[in-house]
Parts: sequence; structure tokens; C-alpha cells
Amino acid sequence: MESTNLWVWVAGAVLAGRLGAEWALEALNRRHLRQVAGCAEAGGSEGSGRARALAYAEARSRFREIELLWETALLAGLWLTGWLARGWEAWQQVVGTGVWADAGFVWAVFTGASVASWPLRWYERFHLEERFGFNTTRPRTWWADRAKGLLLGTVLGLPVLVGLLGLMRWDPAGWWMWGWAFVVAVQWAVSWLAPVIILPWFHRFSPLPEGPLRERLLTLARRIGFRLADIQVMDGSRRTRHSNAFFTGWGRFRRVILYDTLLAQLASEELEAVVAHEMGHDRLRHWQKMMVGSALGLLAAFAVAAYAAQVPSLFRAFGFPGPEPAILLVGLGLWAGPVSAWLAPLIHACSRRWEFAADAFAARVLGTAEPLCRALERLHRENLMNLPSHPWYRWVHESHPSLEERLAALTRAGRGPAPAGDRSSA
Ligand SMILES: [Zn+2]
Repeated sequence: MESTNLWVWVAGAVLAGRLGAEWALEALNRRHLRQVAGCAEAGGSEGSGRARALAYAEARSRFREIELLWETALLAGLWLTGWLARGWEAWQQVVGTGVWADAGFVWAVFTGASVASWPLRWYERFHLEERFGFNTTRPRTWWADRAKGLLLGTVLGLPVLVGLLGLMRWDPAGWWMWGWAFVVAVQWAVSWLAPVIILPWFHRFSPLPEGPLRERLLTLARRIGFRLADIQVMDGSRRTRHSNAFFTGWGRFRRVILYDTLLAQLASEELEAVVAHEMGHDRLRHWQKMMVGSALGLLAAFAVAAYAAQVPSLFRAFGFPGPEPAILLVGLGLWAGPVSAWLAPLIHACSRRWEFAADAFAARVLGTAEPLCRALERLHRENLMNLPSHPWYRWVHESHPSLEERLAALTRAGRGPAPAGDRSSA
């Protein structure tokens, strides 16, 4: 009895600790942003842009607080009140037991949690983003996206759950290693095929038209040895005015994707610099390291789950008769967020180093940092991201260094010895 109570306290402390820490950090960051924006206010036209960026950052920060409160309430409601246990009991009575029934329960909990967050997503899109002029999504597109997401989650998720639960029955001691290999294999297959079977379902893609820009980018790819199937333009403007570029897939399906909004915002040499940065992530093996890192993180999570399965008091604490494979998977899925939030600083520190490295890569292959600096300034301004967060906030939450840091690093690198021979072919 004593140890069951202990688990409830631990779960409560993890939730409350995270909520408190995140709220404090948001408040600290808002105060910092107000100070930074206040200093810049004296700067005339630059100042008014910053006032808008401040209002956007503050609105996003408030929204994040509500999001966190919602996530905390959901987890507390499911686990600490015993609702999940009662739901599980009812499910077994109505649907039955067995691998498919268990998988159905896990699917239903995950789907329910996702659907329950739709009002927040709606508010974010049609109120918050709308207020700052970023939203271009029509409600019809939004609902279609939800429906497709649900269908995709079912078609991909249900078989994975059945596979995992089957492995747990087949090898109760070693399931976690098999299960891990299985999930990683599925993830890699999906990321391989995503550009051809998943993304086109949500967005419209068209090849970047023949012309000087396309030639320029293909030449760049050849020159730095980046293999790609195509350069495509995505209709990002059908949902948002935010802009972006990325590459997706690997092997023969790999392609560089440019948002149409990005094409509209940048001159062609700035675009080339942004694409060179993206390709840098690949040539410097960041993308590959990230895939391996996330697979190792998953292995750790599965090992923890396998250990938790041996602790009956953990299950009894939340109202279950004992260890249940389905509940273990529900726990793994729902608690991964609040627990891994404590690892975010580590992951983001790594990511920020890679951003500097990809910036330096782009400047090196182009022989100049200037177009990338201009592109970064413009993109940060257009996306209202031009205010630097509090250092602690950045340390915990941000995968990218601030604009100032990136410009400073690029300028420093620009003053170094000039790279030889690269420029002539650009
Ligand atoms: Zn990057």
C-alpha cells in the first residue's frame, strides 16, 4: 500500500514540477522580451516591427502556458483519478481481451487524447495565428487535415500496436529489443516513403520550374555532392504565411522542398544560401546522427518500459490489478512527453551547434556569408521571430540559435581566411 501511494506522489510531482518550471520560464522569457523590445523601441521603424514581434511572442507564450495546463490536466485526469483504470475495465468487458482488443484500447486512448486537443489547435490556427496575419487555412482544409491525420494514425498506428503487443506475449522478457527494432524499422520505412505516399496527401507539390533558379540549385547540389531526386515547391501558402525549406526522405526519393511563401520572400541568391544550409545538415551528417540519436532514445524508453513491467506496485497505484501490456504502452506514449521534456536542453544544445555548423558550411561553399545573413534577417522578420529569447529559455526550448548569434558567427567566419576556388562555379 505504501509503495502504491509513493507512485501517485511521484507522478503528481513530475506533472506539477514540469508545469511550474515551464510556467516560470515562460514568465521569465516574456519579461526579458519586453525589455529587449523596449530598448529597440527608440530605433524608429525597426522599433515598430519589434513591437509586433513582441506581441506575437507574448501571445505564443500565453498559449503555450494553456497548452501545458491542458496536457497536465489530461494526464492527471487519466492516471491520478483512476479514470483510465475504470475505462480499461469497461473496455475489456465490452470489447474483450486479446492482442487486437488491447491494441484497440491503446489506439482509442491516443486518438481520444489527440481529438481532445483539437479545440486548442483550432484556437491556435484561427485566433492566434489569424490575429498576426499568418493564417491562410480555410476551415474545410483544417477539418480535412484532422480526418486524414486520424486515418493515417489508424492505418500506421494500429498495426504497430498489434505487432508490439504480439511481441510482448511472444517473448515477455526480451520483447523490448524486438519491439524497438520493429518500431525503428517502421519509422525508417515511413521516412523513406513519406515524400511519395504521405506528404502529397496533405500538400500539393510541383517541380521547381526550369530556369536560372533551378539550374543554380541543381549546380549547387552537384558541386557539394548532395544526391537528390528533385527540387519541389510546396503550397505552404494554402495553410500559413510562415515560410520554410527542408529536405525529406532518403535514397532515391529524397527531395528538397521549398515553401511557395519562401520563394516569394527571398531573392534567388538568398534562396541558394538557405538551400546550402539545408544541404549542409546532410553533408555534415546531422540528419543521420539525429536518426540514430532518436533510435537510441527510443531504445532507452523501451528498456525503462520493460523494467516498469516488472513492478506490479506501479500498476496497482493507478488502479490496475497488475502489469498489463496495453497499459504499459499507454503509459509509454502519454508519459514520454513530460519525462523527455527534462532532456530537451541536451537535445537542443546539440541542435544549436549543428545550426552554426550548417551556417558555416553554407558560407564556405558559397564563398560568402552575405546572402545567408540577408536571408536569415528577412526570414526572422517575416516570421516575427526577430526578438532573442532569454538565454535560459533558449537553452531549454530552442533548437536554433538567435538571429544575433547566427549573424555574429557568420560575420566572424567571414573575416577568416578566404576559401579558395569555390566561388567560380556558384
Ligand atoms: Zn538548420
